[in-house]
Amino acid sequence: METVVSGIRSTGKLHLGNYYGAVKNFVQMQHEYNCFFFIADYHSLTTHPTPQDQHGNVKQVLVEYLAAGIDPEKATIYVQSDLPEIVELYLYLNMNAYMGELERSASFKDKVRANPDNINAGLLTYPVLMAADILIHRATKVPVGKDQEQHLEMARTFGNRFNRLYKTDYFPEPYAFSFSNQLVKVPGLDGKGKMGKSEGEANAVYLSDEPEVIRKKVMRAVSDSGPTEENQPKPEAIQHLFDLMKVVSAPDTLAHFDGLYNNCQIRYGDLKKQLADDIITVTAPMREKIHAISNDTSYLRQVALHGALKARESASKTIKEVREIIGFKEF
Ligand code: AMP
Repeated sequence: METVVSGIRSTGKLHLGNYYGAVKNFVQMQHEYNCFFFIADYHSLTTHPTPQDQHGNVKQVLVEYLAAGIDPEKATIYVQSDLPEIVELYLYLNMNAYMGELERSASFKDKVRANPDNINAGLLTYPVLMAADILIHRATKVPVGKDQEQHLEMARTFGNRFNRLYKTDYFPEPYAFSFSNQLVKVPGLDGKGKMGKSEGEANAVYLSDEPEVIRKKVMRAVSDSGPTEENQPKPEAIQHLFDLMKVVSAPDTLAHFDGLYNNCQIRYGDLKKQLADDIITVTAPMREKIHAISNDTSYLRQVALHGALKARESASKTIKEVREIIGFKEF
């Protein structure tokens, strides 16, 4: 059975981008594959080195994984920092990752632009840590959003380079995966790019947002003054609302508003109201479950302990074999 690995950084609540880009696939994949889903708390330190409530952030993602439908009896859910083996593999892979290729990564360039005062080595080697996350379980499928495609390519590069250097075929090649066959990019409400935690509170709809908050955010989303000619292409300032609708609404709802746009009869207020209603409907069961389990500390502890045990078994086997391949030996 193929092995699957993916994770979400513990830098805050999960938004619709995290859900449709990653977690929805996790829930489907757990029935068919050997799945490892983790909470990336080491990773969160690259951009948030002094988190106010690291444990609370980790707990939030754990709760939301469970609320979204990941079954800890089917998939292995664990906290990244419960596996120090990942750090050891990260060290080995860092020895064979070149400055030039790391500096050229699009996400590194974005981060440098966003945080010019904190361009640390962890940020530079983020793709190496991500490769270690994946290779530690020798996974072949990685459910992620479109923004992670380049990181997956780098994970293949580092795994292949290890294989070449040590004349082995130990690491298989991991590929980004989505059940829809196309990697997802959920746009933000500002119409400028992807939905994300760092793009401002109003840009993202969170799984835990209450209905009135969702309504308010969607009604305030960027739009333009409407089409003036029939069948005119949609400008970016409005395309994002249709793209969001494509993700959360039924196909005939999207077709209905597309038709209204094309014959210039659209009223964006109606579209936004429908979009907010549909987001509220798809998130409602998760919101309820978030409320139900958030304070169940003993259940959450049990899930995290059980997951850490299973994940460590897999990770320590890999590290033992990697040490042998490199040539470390006990006296
Ligand atoms: P992050 O929040 O950056 O840790 O991302 C965790 C996962 O969510 C990754 O698989 C990302 O590809 C995915 N993701 C984050 N934002 C989006 C988005 N706007 N659209 C699609 N996937 C996303």
